[in-house]
Amino acid sequence: MSIDDLGDLIGTCEREGCGNDIRYEHLTYHPEWGYKIVGSTCIEHLTKKDKNLSAKVLTCYRNISSFAHGTSWYQGKTKSDKPYVGAQHGHDLIRIYGQDGGYAFQVALKEKGRKFHHFKDIVRASGKTLDEVKELAYITLKGLTTEDEEEKSMLRNLYRSIKQVT
Ligand SMILES: [Zn+2]
Repeated sequence: MSIDDLGDLIGTCEREGCGNDIRYEHLTYHPEWGYKIVGSTCIEHLTKKDKNLSAKVLTCYRNISSFAHGTSWYQGKTKSDKPYVGAQHGHDLIRIYGQDGGYAFQVALKEKGRKFHHFKDIVRASGKTLDEVKELAYITLKGLTTEDEEEKSMLRNLYRSIKQVT
């Protein structure tokens, strides 16, 4: 937000674990930790870390949105004649059952070398719109298949925030 030159090393860096004497005070604000005064080295470190994370979050959002809205969803029927809206992601499947206000979704994974899909439990998503259920289903599928731990926890948070808001 601003830089202040103290003329000498008389300031203190407030970055967690730092506490160095600093001459240039960088006043920063971040939604996670609020206002902080940090030194030149630490401001660079924080900015870089934040940029990496933001890019990842953005990519993650973009993927979810383009899957929910850009994929061709089809009408299908289960073996027991239950109608669903379905989509394919790689070799994996998503099925959405029910109607407005009473949707439920199910993902089916096809693990490498396996002949059949492994159908996971049906998850109820009452009070959600079809678009929201599509997003939840995709997030679930992605969460089960990604090997990136950071992405996994990001997806978990997103899932929670979509599921909670009614
Ligand atoms: Zn510092």
